[in-house]
Amino acid sequence: LRRNAGEPEFHQAVHEVLESLGRVIAKRPEYAEQALIERICEPERQIIFRVPWADDKGRAHINRGFRVQFNSALGPYKGGIRFHPSVNVGIIKFLGFEQTFKNALTGMPIGGAKGGSDFDPKGRSDAEIMRFCQSFITELYRHLGEYTDVPAGDIGVGGREIGYMFGQYKRLTNRYEAGVLTGKGLSYGGSRARKEATGYGNTYFVQSMLATRGLTFEGRKVVVSGSGNVAIYTMEKVQSFGGKVMACSDSNGYVVDENGIDLDLVKEIKEVRRERISEYARLKGTGAHYIAGGSIWDVSCDVAMPSATQNELTGKDARTLVKNGVIAVGEGANMPTTPDAVKIFQEAGVLFAPGKAANAGGVATSALEMQQNASRDSWTFDQTEARLAVIMRGIHDACYETAEEYGAPGDYVLGANIAGFVRVAEAMRALGLI
Ligand code: NDP
Repeated sequence: LRRNAGEPEFHQAVHEVLESLGRVIAKRPEYAEQALIERICEPERQIIFRVPWADDKGRAHINRGFRVQFNSALGPYKGGIRFHPSVNVGIIKFLGFEQTFKNALTGMPIGGAKGGSDFDPKGRSDAEIMRFCQSFITELYRHLGEYTDVPAGDIGVGGREIGYMFGQYKRLTNRYEAGVLTGKGLSYGGSRARKEATGYGNTYFVQSMLATRGLTFEGRKVVVSGSGNVAIYTMEKVQSFGGKVMACSDSNGYVVDENGIDLDLVKEIKEVRRERISEYARLKGTGAHYIAGGSIWDVSCDVAMPSATQNELTGKDARTLVKNGVIAVGEGANMPTTPDAVKIFQEAGVLFAPGKAANAGGVATSALEMQQNASRDSWTFDQTEARLAVIMRGIHDACYETAEEYGAPGDYVLGANIAGFVRVAEAMRALGLI
């Protein structure tokens, strides 16, 4: 605790994984040799840097940039960049730690990392966003590379920001190194279905989880928090599976539509106009209403898919959801459910999919983007989505079977932690004390 003081999210993430490992160490004591557990909790490298930029009025601003290169036993560091005022080193470390196991679960050759800045993109012009991204990469570029570290998007970083970062990387290095960033636009080396992958992937995972009880999405009421990249494509896939999305949100409030959320309208508001979700109720009129503040988890549903940010679903919310008859929870965001809430769901017999497994579809498709870049190829949407579906089913089955093997059937948290850990631990043992 003293070594990582003031980093509560990092403690939370490490604690949650270590809690699962007792059973694996009892069976395979060699995984605790050579300080392997201590090494796996210590990032290989942390980069913290100044990001100076000028706003449209010529005023200077300084933000702090981070890249935590957590573990490269399985492949080059891989993980998103987050721009949000709440970003600090503890948050980036928790995300990098989680990413290491998530990436291992995909079965693809990628290590774990995360990065970002405390920059707040809200209300900034396009030109300001571009200058910020250029300044951010002007420092970070020397630590990146297709064989070294390959960032992608996260909160506050979508296709526009990746484009500006890639442009600056190309300019600084004089190399068209397409595989250095993922989540790129289709016109310059991006992959079809990458934008959709995290939300679609979580929906596939929950579909597999429901199937273990002979259930489907058909006719189910679903609540999806957030209205960003992950939330939008979760809603799209849920609707295509016959589910009815009742509500979505942003950090100011949530909107409920008794007729089911109109996704075209959400996309217009969030992706085109870049406005607040409150606009939805104003533009939609009948059947829709907006609640400022409050908790979206008060809305009754069968399936909850938290897709905004960490610790957004608390113990109190979990009790409300259980009381309202929730049957499954799929984490689209990273660690959105607090530890006491996870316990409440598990004790109530609710199917619970942890983010490091359920939201791995994004990074898995990023790895497919790297494959396409390496072979100078470009796959169709259907081909890429079919690979994503197979990968998500594989992750589901690995978690399910590992939980059974270790005497905790149906505990996807334990299954994901052990399955991810074993893969990283095997590689680290093989590589020696590094
Ligand atoms: P976006 O920036 O596209 O969307 C984030 C959404 O969450 C917005 O609606 C935002 O509202 C809301 N949100 C952000 N911070 C808060 C907060 N502190 N309180 C309440 N609401 C908040 O990000 P993504 O959709 O890409 O990411 C969402 C989550 O999914 C994150 O946890 C991310 O780490 C995780 N994830 C993303 C992947 C990806 O491929 N993009 C892959 C795997 C995980 P507002 O506009 O008001 O800020």
